[in-house]
Amino acid sequence: MKVRVGARTDVGVVRDQNEDGYLAEGPLFAVADGMGGHQGGEVASQVALETVAAMAREQGPTLDLDAAIRAANDAILARASGDRDLEGMGTTLTIVREEDGRITIAHVGDSRAYLLRDGDLRQLTEDHTLVHRMVTEGKLTEAEAKIHPHRSILTRALGVEPGIQVDVDARQVSVGDRIMLCSDGLTGMVGEQQIEEILKSEPDPQKAADLLVDEANRAGGQDNITVVILDLDKGDAPAASTTEAGPTERVTVAAPPALETERVDLRAGDRGRWVRWAVRIGVGVALVIVAIFAARAYLGTQWFVGIQEDRVAIFNGIPTTFLGFDLFSLAETTDIPADEARGAGVQWRGLGEGITASSEEDARAIVRQIEEDIGRSP
Ligand code: MG
Repeated sequence: MKVRVGARTDVGVVRDQNEDGYLAEGPLFAVADGMGGHQGGEVASQVALETVAAMAREQGPTLDLDAAIRAANDAILARASGDRDLEGMGTTLTIVREEDGRITIAHVGDSRAYLLRDGDLRQLTEDHTLVHRMVTEGKLTEAEAKIHPHRSILTRALGVEPGIQVDVDARQVSVGDRIMLCSDGLTGMVGEQQIEEILKSEPDPQKAADLLVDEANRAGGQDNITVVILDLDKGDAPAASTTEAGPTERVTVAAPPALETERVDLRAGDRGRWVRWAVRIGVGVALVIVAIFAARAYLGTQWFVGIQEDRVAIFNGIPTTFLGFDLFSLAETTDIPADEARGAGVQWRGLGEGITASSEEDARAIVRQIEEDIGRSP
């Protein structure tokens, strides 16, 4: 069987770093979605992919994918230890290997593998997320999970602790099957129905990958987006074709158009020029005032749970500093020690960076969940 490959990774519209990565070295294909402050996320996904690629080159088709992911996990932990900037970095990793009409999938996290067969799209991996666990426990419906504010909180990821549990699955594939690997930057922005439509209507794997990334960006591009598509074709090429991992394409957000400058009328006297300048300055000041009020109104409706003096706390605003100003204020403190909370589960590791809540009530619900997770009854 021959594999035709299309692949693309993109920073998206909102983020300024691409922490996703992919591997397309037939017969091995993988997607990794890194997380962690500073350069951490980028380093974690790269270390994971490089570890697996190096092992594959050494061991060839005998490579045990479960062992490869566990080795990648160890490599990330080793790299993070002793480097404060990389501490707490992690990544998802979803690998597919194709051999003789069979694929093996090894997976940790919320990146996904899909199979498009006879026009039907099916997810082959299970998300290791808090919301997915709540769905299986009957606490949430699928529809609620899709829009849940904490849908990206992972229950399993590489880089968290030694001895990771890996999902491994194998299945037969046939000519005409299309496999897609992707990060949550695609599935978080584009519905499965629409993904299926695009995969069905575009036969070229590279063009299909490009269309999917474009669609995620059109929908808002709130996260990094990575798509790898494998088309299983007739043919007896021994190894799968490979596409070069191209440079990360950046999508530039169009800057707001500057105030249109009037064409200077050379004949206009000084008085006309002064009036025009006065009008421009007046408009500029008015725009700044409107922007400040809009920003204050917006920040007033935003909430997150973070850390204040080593204690878990609720904040109003967004966990960011802009031009030296904090875009948040402390709303409420608790007596929960931050270290204890961070140690209570993967989902609380991001407390230092702030965990976004959809409302003040939601922020309190997060605090209650933390209390529960550290074994305190609220
Ligand atoms: Mg992501």
